[in-house]
Amino acid sequence: MTEKRENYKSALKVQEGIEQPSSLNADYINKMKAARQPVLSLDEFVSGIRAGNRTILSKAITLIESSLNEHHKLAQEIIEKCLPFAGNSIRIGITGVPGVGKSTFIEALGKHITNIGHKLAVLAIDPSSERSKGSILGDKTRMEELAVDPNAFIRPSPSAGSLGGVARKTREIIILCEAAGFNTIFVETVGVGQSETAVHSMVDFFLLLMLSNAGDELQGIKRGIMEMADAIAINKADGDNIEKAKLAMAQYKNALHLFPPTDSGWIPQVATCSAYTRDGIAGLWDIIMEYVAYTKANSYFSLKRQDQSKNIMLETINDFLKDNFYSNKTIKSLIPLVQEEVLSDKISSYMAAQKLLEAYYKIINK
Ligand code: GDP
Repeated sequence: MTEKRENYKSALKVQEGIEQPSSLNADYINKMKAARQPVLSLDEFVSGIRAGNRTILSKAITLIESSLNEHHKLAQEIIEKCLPFAGNSIRIGITGVPGVGKSTFIEALGKHITNIGHKLAVLAIDPSSERSKGSILGDKTRMEELAVDPNAFIRPSPSAGSLGGVARKTREIIILCEAAGFNTIFVETVGVGQSETAVHSMVDFFLLLMLSNAGDELQGIKRGIMEMADAIAINKADGDNIEKAKLAMAQYKNALHLFPPTDSGWIPQVATCSAYTRDGIAGLWDIIMEYVAYTKANSYFSLKRQDQSKNIMLETINDFLKDNFYSNKTIKSLIPLVQEEVLSDKISSYMAAQKLLEAYYKIINK
């Protein structure tokens, strides 16, 4: 700031001006400070997460998503320490074709449950790297109310990567969110590909959102996805659409009757709702609560989680074996050569695979 120099006798008078901003902008300085800050220690991460500190939770999630080895190692240690405090939540998968209203619905159901005291984490599985077509959670503004709700935590999908990798990371993120005190987890995915199976393998309850033009929708959604659903919600049951939605509900109920009984003994429910008017939203939550009570009473709830944990272990082994094989330098150079032999009919595909595997066994047994 310029100094007032009233007593200074000179023709050159320094005018008192407005305060000038410092030459470096404060945001920049803060960013530099943050960058220079040491990475938190394992204990700081764990106690921060346990205390529900969102900044620390977000940082830990970033470690999970990172492809750096040192980050991966620290992330695994954090997860290990958080594991004893995880598991105490209801994990709900939500799927449906782009445009069915997933974001709007998550906002509606999310607000309903945070209003009644739940702490909600919203995650997503979106393995497609292109985020253009109906990408999910990419745009938080679609969940305006939840985004500023102190009882909600929204985290977009780990970007790009194989579905297996993204799914594993999401499972790990669930553990951290639970350890941070979130007792309800939503995992959103687009109902058009393989990702529903991945989501189904990590949640307790799977909700399929549909629209009232049942005929078209039944074709768009694969039968397999309908079979996974614990409930189907016909969304956009508002205005002129209410009657159509009711009709669709009856059609889906009939369709579900033709499916084999579920392992849990639970009869999948069909309901209508409007994420706009929020009619039917509370009813859907009641259905989820009924499911939880039902499956906890018959022990299916914990059996399913045990089964999921076992599968995750086996999947992880598969992934690592595969990675190890394909990233091996010798194997990498051998594959095109052996492939050539297959293409020129010198050896069968089976023999070619054997040859490569034998080469691999030799390397690892050395
Ligand atoms: P997503 O792609 O499945 O996430 O769908 P969005 O939540 O982005 O919604 C797609 C469009 O449907 C948006 O224009 C929403 O405003 C609209 N929409 C969502 N839910 C409802 C609803 O319950 N009723 C009506 N009439 N429109 C809705």
